[in-house]
Amino acid sequence: MENTEKYDIAIIGGGPGGYETALYADKLNLKVCLIEENEIGGTCLNRGCIPTKTLYHFAKEINSFNKLSLYFNNNLEKLDVNYEMIYQKKEQVLADLKNGINFLIDKSNIDLIKGHGKIINNNTIHIINKKDVNNNDIYNNDIEIINANNIIIATGSSPLKGIIEGDSYAITSDELLNMQTLPKSLLIIGGGVIGIEMASIFAKFGVNVEVVEMCDTILPNIDKDVSKRLTSYLQKIGVKFHLKSTIDRIIDENTIEIKTKNETKILKSQYILMSVGRRININNLFDDNINIDINKKGIVVNDDFETNIPNIYAIGDVNGKLMLAHYASSSGKKVIDKIINKENFTNFALCPSCVFTFPEVAFIGKKEDDLKKDNIDYKTLKSMYRANGKALSMDETDGYIKCLIQGDKLLGVSIIGEGASDIIHQAAILMNNNVKISEFKDYIYAHPTLSEVFKACFE
Ligand code: FAD
Repeated sequence: MENTEKYDIAIIGGGPGGYETALYADKLNLKVCLIEENEIGGTCLNRGCIPTKTLYHFAKEINSFNKLSLYFNNNLEKLDVNYEMIYQKKEQVLADLKNGINFLIDKSNIDLIKGHGKIINNNTIHIINKKDVNNNDIYNNDIEIINANNIIIATGSSPLKGIIEGDSYAITSDELLNMQTLPKSLLIIGGGVIGIEMASIFAKFGVNVEVVEMCDTILPNIDKDVSKRLTSYLQKIGVKFHLKSTIDRIIDENTIEIKTKNETKILKSQYILMSVGRRININNLFDDNINIDINKKGIVVNDDFETNIPNIYAIGDVNGKLMLAHYASSSGKKVIDKIINKENFTNFALCPSCVFTFPEVAFIGKKEDDLKKDNIDYKTLKSMYRANGKALSMDETDGYIKCLIQGDKLLGVSIIGEGASDIIHQAAILMNNNVKISEFKDYIYAHPTLSEVFKACFE
């Protein structure tokens, strides 16, 4: 069955990359169709950013409550968490956000098509197993043919499994976020962002958490000093780390065998969480005649997110560049601007990254290792939270801000401390605008604020 509409843009995948790009293109009066085989919102809304940050919020409240209990006369030392209620709240947040997105799509001119998109050539997509937009039942076994001038692939990624012997016994972040009761213990394989966020959250909920990581530090992509500092903070909240340890095999649902330099150990836990990375979603996405370049990370794209096939772009997790929701949506906007010849000033080298731990971590721009590797001269400026009045009064004195500079230029910022995920945007704005240090060091900051920790780096 041929869809008679000729679209300007057809987008496969309704995650933050896909739906935000669709809404942006629609505002510019382009005729858009958005194809999603599952739920609108993708990983971010259904299985990623939003559910984890809702749980993180509660974990943080528990943290504050535990600190406060010192100052109460009645005995509030041990909180009895009603996780089922927290789960219900999380579901409500997801439903509210999903309704919001569906409302925006409904009132736009976007054609939302539910089904699996398969690219046949650079202007044609087949919709397989078309579903009803509302009830998700497959109601049309015919293939629907979509014609479009431009195709944007935004099919995202899924948890990686099938790489360690016995890993079918393990759960992934998808299942962990869907549990309605708290596990008693959790053994996390992989000390990347997802593994470490889960470790922080569930440790605060009182779960016994252990992390197995093959590198000598957790979060190998962040500043080494920050990573070490975070490791010791997380140890204080009860997370146990097995660094420089590889997994030999997962023996059953509760048991793994790990190998360190000198020994082989058996570890036991109620659940084993596989968190060793993500694989891109390209299953049955291309007809056999499509020779699209794909490397180990994802679909290969240039700086404009163009693939090797004219009119086909790949944005978000599926290109493997940076698996972050805001990177996905910003790259989609860049593609639309390119298609309509509109200037776009996004500097993708300046994408802030945040890790929601206790305390938070955030960074932007260059890291010390990058600069050393490239033989670039730099100086380090550092300011401690414990010297900040607001941090002291909040009892949030852990952490610091570290700035890497060259002459009058800010090259990179790493933050570990309360509010890191907000403070980082000051650096983002300054760096995006190439503001010189000699200029912004004289800006007036309100007192007392945590932002003053950033300003203090330059005093
Ligand atoms: P996705 O969100 O994965 O969406 C892709 C969509 O495409 C899916 O809905 C899928 O069903 C659909 N699809 C796939 N193939 C087809 C097909 N052939 N036809 C039709 N539809 C198809 N990022 C942050 O920035 N901040 C965070 O705090 C954060 N926390 C995270 C926590 C966890 C536990 C996880 C797993 C991820 C987190 N992320 C976070 C990463 C973030 O979720 C992803 O980077 C983001 O969702 C990527 O968006 P996307 O649009 O590229 O893909």
